[in-house]
Amino acid sequence: MHARDQPILQENIRHCLAKLRHVLLDMDGTIYSGSRLFPFTLKFLADLTEAHIGYTFLTNNCSRSVEQYVQKLRGLGIMADADSLLTSMHATVFYLRHHHPRIKRLFVLGTDGLKSDLAAAGFQMACGDASGGEPEAVVVGFDTQLTYANLCAAAWWVKRGKLFIATHPDVFCPTDQPTLLVDCGAVTRCIEEAAGRRADAVLGKPHETMIQPILERWELLSDQAVMVGDRLTTDVRMGQQAGLLSVLVLTGDAVRDDIERLGVQPDLVVEDLEQLGRLIAQSRGGAR
Ligand SMILES: [Mg+2]
Repeated sequence: MHARDQPILQENIRHCLAKLRHVLLDMDGTIYSGSRLFPFTLKFLADLTEAHIGYTFLTNNCSRSVEQYVQKLRGLGIMADADSLLTSMHATVFYLRHHHPRIKRLFVLGTDGLKSDLAAAGFQMACGDASGGEPEAVVVGFDTQLTYANLCAAAWWVKRGKLFIATHPDVFCPTDQPTLLVDCGAVTRCIEEAAGRRADAVLGKPHETMIQPILERWELLSDQAVMVGDRLTTDVRMGQQAGLLSVLVLTGDAVRDDIERLGVQPDLVVEDLEQLGRLIAQSRGGAR
């Protein structure tokens, strides 16, 4: 491997890494690319565990259930369990419980996996028509089983004034296949146009509801966690808005020139997780 420039750490960043308790990790472009795990990921995670630093994987994609993600991660060799990850499904549950605690019945545009996770969290699923009772809210997810009838039903309930939530803003989902995967954000806009109303909330990264459940779950202060990802406008911006140290890895979406172009300045830019792992070890070694 060729030698790479190790960033010089500012004192405040070194101090933050030295007392780090938890790492929030974006998935695609950060720990793997598509179905290919990066060669340094397993060692990075093992080193965190050895240093008693926890970690959580974050994704906006709620087309898979939590269990399906756990199986995917395990298939890549990562010993994950349900507490290891947070999707925009969790953000939706967190948002509803904190802002609309009385809402229980949802009309969901989403996969069976999303619906079963929401049902497990205590919500009832309404049908496309009023025969099964009116929904109290419409939740638009990444529905890879989308039908025209359900799209129209969602627009109908939105037009009737029901709470209108999008699980995440992404308009398409990256793929290496010759197709364009139309995602939650694009379907949400379609409903907004038809119903003449904007969504009441768009969750998922960069919304704070992707970070707050993790801080609560692990009883963390914002200066004890770091957000690591490959996208400036979602991963890095979300970390900044939540007061977390933000780290950009250059193994996915963003290149260095994007920092100035997009006007989003991460606290730290590293080539990959391997380099970040070295900086964490260095900071903690220096703190002893
Ligand atoms: Mg990513």
